[in-house]
Amino acid sequence: MSAASTAKRRAGDALDIVALERGGHASYSACGIPYWVAGDVGDVDDLVARTPAQHAENGIDLRLGHEVTAIDLDRGEVEVADGGSGSGYRIGFDRLMIATGAVPIRPDLPGVDAQGIFGVQTLDDGAQVIETLASRKPRRAVVVGGGYIGVEMAEAMVRRGLEVVVVDQAAEPMTTLDPDMGRLVHASMEQMGIDVRSSTPVEGFDAGPDGWVRSVVAGGAEIATDVVVLGIGVRPNVELADAGGLPVGDAGGLQVDLRMGVKGHPNIWAGGDCVETFNLVSQRWVHVPLGTHANKHGRVAGTNIAGGYATFPGVVGTAMTKVCDLEIARTGLRESDARVAGFEFESVTIESRTRAGYFPQSRPMTVKMLAERGTGRLLGAQIVGREGSAKRIDVCAVALWNRMTVADLMDVDLGYAPPFSPVWDPVLVAARAAVSALQG
Ligand SMILES: Cc1cc2nc3c(=O)[nH]c(=O)nc-3n(C[C@H](O)[C@H](O)[C@H](O)COP(=O)(O)OP(=O)(O)OC[C@H]3O[C@@H](n4cnc5c(N)ncnc54)[C@H](O)[C@@H]3O)c2cc1C
Repeated sequence: MSAASTAKRRAGDALDIVALERGGHASYSACGIPYWVAGDVGDVDDLVARTPAQHAENGIDLRLGHEVTAIDLDRGEVEVADGGSGSGYRIGFDRLMIATGAVPIRPDLPGVDAQGIFGVQTLDDGAQVIETLASRKPRRAVVVGGGYIGVEMAEAMVRRGLEVVVVDQAAEPMTTLDPDMGRLVHASMEQMGIDVRSSTPVEGFDAGPDGWVRSVVAGGAEIATDVVVLGIGVRPNVELADAGGLPVGDAGGLQVDLRMGVKGHPNIWAGGDCVETFNLVSQRWVHVPLGTHANKHGRVAGTNIAGGYATFPGVVGTAMTKVCDLEIARTGLRESDARVAGFEFESVTIESRTRAGYFPQSRPMTVKMLAERGTGRLLGAQIVGREGSAKRIDVCAVALWNRMTVADLMDVDLGYAPPFSPVWDPVLVAARAAVSALQG
């Protein structure tokens, strides 16, 4: 819808835009679902950026409940199934935008189809979880997966008063961080009363006589529960595009160029979770399913579809989340990524505070930084700390974006006052430590 809105704004009546959405909602923030479940967001409508009526007012023919079932490149048509009437039709296009998102991974394990096992990708998923919390009043929850969605849903369940177990097959939660930083997340979650079981693959689910899940079998143990939330990741939703003959890359997403055009197909555009994105630090095509990129992709594609010129230069791998008052952020490469990319590097970890040490709400934060040997170029940063920590990653993201060295970063004129940071900002302290490490 970001592409559709941008294109319509630019081209006006010169473009007829039809948007086909198989679900019952469009233009909403999936990112807000955990906070809706937690109770921070009171009304589901607050998550909807633009209603179908508003899209109609802007001249976009948005058809909810209409699923595209095939893309016919030769005829310039898509095949559509209208869920409401049960009928099908074909519709022609001069330009096609593919924004089919990602598919949540549902493990192929015994009992996974039991009732009470929820994914959280759509507003309907969120509504089902909220309805279950209200009607069944569960006491215990198991969250499968300790990534972004897993930890956010763990927080939501804790704040709803449930006893929460997070099960993850990896050595530590938050595998988008290095394991040593993941360990800090693990320890903090345990302090919050969340039972985190890492290195514990799920083997199956057991349901009671009513068909509702009653335990999760993981790492050889049975964990009794009243509800299960799945957060084990997503893969690009490219089946349609693949079947239509469009190029899919090694990371599993559609291959696009700088202008979000599908490679080799001048009238086909794509963006969001279904495409691959270029990582400017590793110089590799990766799949990074984030709303921040999806919105930018849409804007770029929409501009180009309307005959303008816009590019999406790539990403540096910035992302953040939180579990209760623990903030987690990362940008650039982890140690494992840096090794795969062939970099030689130093890594340092420092402890600091979110505010001046004497200031009342001063809380601890840890910053890890990676810098390339020889050049001193910043390669990545990770932050785990209490309130006021995560957004500091943006300074590192800008430094990465501009290929700065840690020596440059060490001298940057960042703001200081006791309510906001110690006199040496934690990012500057980490950069200084990295410079020392590089000097050996
Ligand atoms: C719980 C949760 C929390 C998140 N938190 C964050 C966050 O904090 N920060 C962040 O940056 N990102 C976050 N994300 C990721 C972000 O929501 C996604 O990256 C973003 O929604 C991707 O946008 P998209 O348009 O590519 O895909 P989607 O928003 O998934 O939209 C794709 C749409 O295509 C429709 N569709 C698919 N196939 C067809 C078809 N054949 N015919 C018709 N319609 C079809 C789907 O029904 C869907 O509505 C979160 C995601 C979730 C689920």
